[in-house]
Amino acid sequence: MTTSNTVKQSTVTFENTEIAFGNKSKKELDFSIWLFRMMQRPALVNFASKAALLAIKMRFPITGIVKATIFKQFCGGETISECDQSIIELGKANIGAILDYSVEGANEEDVFDRTTAELIRNSDKAASSPHIPVTCMKITGVARFNLLKKLSANEELTESERAEYGRVFLRVRSICERAAENQVPIYIDAEETWIQPAIDRMAESLMRQYNKERAIVFTTMQMYRWDQLDHLKKLIQEAQAEGFVAGVKFVRGAYLEKENARAKEMGYKTPMQPNKESTDNDYNEALKISIDNLDNIEFCAGTHNEKSSLYLTELILEKGLEKNIQNVYFSQLYGMSDHISYNLANAGYNVSKYLPYGPVKDAMPYLIRRAEENTAIAGQMGKELNLLMKEKERRAN
Ligand SMILES: Cc1cc2nc3c(=O)[nH]c(=O)nc-3n(C[C@H](O)[C@H](O)[C@H](O)COP(=O)(O)OP(=O)(O)OC[C@H]3O[C@@H](n4cnc5c(N)ncnc54)[C@H](O)[C@@H]3O)c2cc1C
Repeated sequence: MTTSNTVKQSTVTFENTEIAFGNKSKKELDFSIWLFRMMQRPALVNFASKAALLAIKMRFPITGIVKATIFKQFCGGETISECDQSIIELGKANIGAILDYSVEGANEEDVFDRTTAELIRNSDKAASSPHIPVTCMKITGVARFNLLKKLSANEELTESERAEYGRVFLRVRSICERAAENQVPIYIDAEETWIQPAIDRMAESLMRQYNKERAIVFTTMQMYRWDQLDHLKKLIQEAQAEGFVAGVKFVRGAYLEKENARAKEMGYKTPMQPNKESTDNDYNEALKISIDNLDNIEFCAGTHNEKSSLYLTELILEKGLEKNIQNVYFSQLYGMSDHISYNLANAGYNVSKYLPYGPVKDAMPYLIRRAEENTAIAGQMGKELNLLMKEKERRAN
């Protein structure tokens, strides 16, 4: 990596499996090894994903099996209270839990209203727990996808769509308002580029409203987009000029294939970077720009990439900042990259993990994404399984 050569070497390592998996019983360790081995087979993942979706559609009673296997690895439970055990476990290691209500793809207004109420309950729960530093939301949890698409394309809305958008904005604002009252920040996730302009507009307008003293509302920037460094610089300038604190979660981005396929099919220039290296460079550059502008930005590095995580520890060291400085967070997903989360937390950095929860059937799209990401093809898997095996070996000796 070009950027990491310019800063001091950090002392953190991610190799200590005793720190990473010390909280797992033998049974839990064996279970994770078994599950990650299963997920290493792309054909099996493909078949199981389709079968599970079909079974749920046909009301086959498979939720029990899903709940006892992949759901257990990647989700906290079906309800907030079912997550308590995971929150406590993470808390013991000084890792915060970010409750992630994982209902996706709904289209009905009553579902959006129920999700809004749930997200407000999430914020209240966080306010009363020392182990939940932040909450998060997806705008598609409270708004119709096609409405966001139309808004993003600057198409003219019908009268009823304008009223619908008014209700969406009120929902999002009520969630952010509660976040501000509770002083519990909220991360607004990034989604597909063809609905993202509408999400950005909402997130950035609420940032201006609620981020006067500190960042309460966070937007998300996907660095697999080639236009996001400019977006970041512009946001920092605006924050400085207008007197608010930008809040940004940086991720690489979850919809690469879908984005490239759509651009190709519709004949427009892809918003995606030309290769992984460009994504990695922009990701690390975004961390560097942010650390150089801490008067105007608070941020979270949402990543499982070891080099980027290490690079951020080096930037913190280089600037002479406290490891647990309030405005810099590291974050991973529950059930993944514990070697990064637990070793960073053990070294004294601010770490949190997205902890998805919700009815098993609603969590299926999320679980399928995790399974696909963990197949041998995607590559992440090898590392995870190797470390789990290493820990098993360590315990045997
Ligand atoms: C806490 C947290 C919150 C998240 N929130 C969001 C969110 O709000 N929105 C969202 O979209 N995703 C989100 N993600 C998922 C994230 O975008 C990534 O998909 C995932 O974390 C993998 O990227 P990585 O940084 O961990 O590391 P890596 O495994 O090093 O990178 C993999 C990523 O690199 C990029 N990439 C791979 N190949 C190429 C290529 N050929 N060209 C260009 N880029 C390439 C892709 O983005 C791919 O996902 C979140 C992840 C975490 C940990």
